[in-house]
Amino acid sequence: MRKGIAVAPGVAVGTAYCIHEIFVNPNTKRLEENEITAELAAYETARDKTAADLRALQAKVASQLGQEEAAIFAVHESILRDPNFTDKVRDWIVNDRLTTDAALHRLIDHYAALFSKTNDSYLKERLNDVRDVIIRVSSHLSDVLRPESNVLKGPLIVVADELLPSQVVALGDIDVHGIVTQAGSKTSHAAILARSRGIPAVSGVRGILRQVTTGDTIVVDGRDGHVHQNPDPEALAAYRKLEREFFDLKDQLAENREQPAVTADHVPIDLLANINTVGDAVAAGAMGASGVGLFRTEYIYLTHPNVPDESEQLSIYRQAIDAAPGHAVTIRTLDIGGDKTVPFLGHQHQEANPFLGWRSIRLSFEHPEFFTKQMRAIMRAARHARRRGGEVKMMFPMVTTVDEIHRLRRMVRRASRQLDSERREYLLPPIGMMLEVPAAAVTIESMLPLVDFVSIGSNDLVQYLMAADRDNPKVSHLCDPLAPAVLRVLSSVITSCGKYRKPVTLCGEMAGQPRSFVLLVGMGLRSFSMSPAWIPSIKELASQLSISTAEAVLKRALRCKTTAQVRKVMSEEIVKISPNLGIILDTA
Ligand code: PEP
Ligand code: MG
Repeated sequence: MRKGIAVAPGVAVGTAYCIHEIFVNPNTKRLEENEITAELAAYETARDKTAADLRALQAKVASQLGQEEAAIFAVHESILRDPNFTDKVRDWIVNDRLTTDAALHRLIDHYAALFSKTNDSYLKERLNDVRDVIIRVSSHLSDVLRPESNVLKGPLIVVADELLPSQVVALGDIDVHGIVTQAGSKTSHAAILARSRGIPAVSGVRGILRQVTTGDTIVVDGRDGHVHQNPDPEALAAYRKLEREFFDLKDQLAENREQPAVTADHVPIDLLANINTVGDAVAAGAMGASGVGLFRTEYIYLTHPNVPDESEQLSIYRQAIDAAPGHAVTIRTLDIGGDKTVPFLGHQHQEANPFLGWRSIRLSFEHPEFFTKQMRAIMRAARHARRRGGEVKMMFPMVTTVDEIHRLRRMVRRASRQLDSERREYLLPPIGMMLEVPAAAVTIESMLPLVDFVSIGSNDLVQYLMAADRDNPKVSHLCDPLAPAVLRVLSSVITSCGKYRKPVTLCGEMAGQPRSFVLLVGMGLRSFSMSPAWIPSIKELASQLSISTAEAVLKRALRCKTTAQVRKVMSEEIVKISPNLGIILDTA
């Protein structure tokens, strides 16, 4: 049994599917002279099948999820078609007598060595894409397990080093019941993406790929972060029962999608969805969200081969608005930097501290032409939303100073003058700031008169407040939203927003975590934006919680001096409030 970080609750039992198994057992036999031609032919066939896969995936993902999700497979196809790729494999088969399998393995090592010379995280990300492609070619050689292959029948537990956005997209095709990764943590963006599919997941299980092989029976306990390999029959039966209960409860809760979200004492709670793609906006409706509280637009850029122009952006925003519940979408401007890199706009990671560096609006300000285009697209989309009876809001990430808000407002005015002079239809949307930097939390009362709304980005706020990287499992014990310091800051910010009568939402991952949810309701928060998958259980929890209980629980939690004490208090309280949600709750 291994212990990692629980990143998505629930229990899953299934067959291991190791994504990086090519690294473990390359075929090291040396070819005989008379085997070379056949080996070359085998490679060419595998390569052509891979190209066909990638084209089919592009078409399928484009029709199901949209062009921007599909673009990553075009990138993969261009990697495959790079003449260097095939020249090297051929050379090693012919001259070094390597099997194709071993040649592909050497190719990974070759690129890894090449890329290790740079600190550029964008290039490091591309290494993962190269790996993806090589593994796909290799899978056609041995007829092992492509994600979309019929060889492997679900339910599957994906075991990987780290899940990339492209891999999460591909997972949509197979019957994945659980995910285990060696790297990553609760708030890494890959985890957020995986979680949005509502799959139990555990991250930060070091070395698991060396222990598990494809075909093993794996149990993922996403409540406390445990992973069991080939458990004995009794334990297996117990976990299968838990898994059934988890699915039954999920199905049952999904049926509450038409119900309004209200507390036990009938106070309305706004439950909004965080989305990365148009497909997520559809999921938001299916899960009963009342709108989209955070559209992370950078995913459009992460999977796009170049900077999308204004009309492409507008078209994606319109599709998201059309799909979103109530046609209500809060669009966040580009938030590149930190762990998210894109090749354009001169963004390259050679920074010692990327999360403290050239990120979000800091980067957008230095590309006024691009930034204005994004604002214009959002303002034009706002008009579209109004026509459909909904509303678009425009939100800026990483706001740190009052000066930045003045500067943003000036840019919005300039963009609106341009649109006026071009006689384009648009609407000036409400303008909000994300509160995710401690400096903004401290000076919030000088900022509130300048914005129309606030959205608390607790993922970043917690990491900056605790000086603990949100993606580093070694410091995840510090990067905890239940830390007393975090609770005090959140409580004070929410009180300030109330004093200035400014609408406030919280859109970090803690919005969908039951313990934090109860505390935030106690602080007076009434609007939450979260992964669509969390909405049914949070709606259920809200219906069992009265405001007076939430306030009393908050009082108790605020008296605690340590995170462990807060966690203990909340574990006691949460089972009293909602005894039936045990299986869905993260109990770590
Ligand atoms: C946050 O920081 O809480 C947030 C919602 O934004 P992101 O996770 O995209 O940084
Ligand atoms: Mg953030």
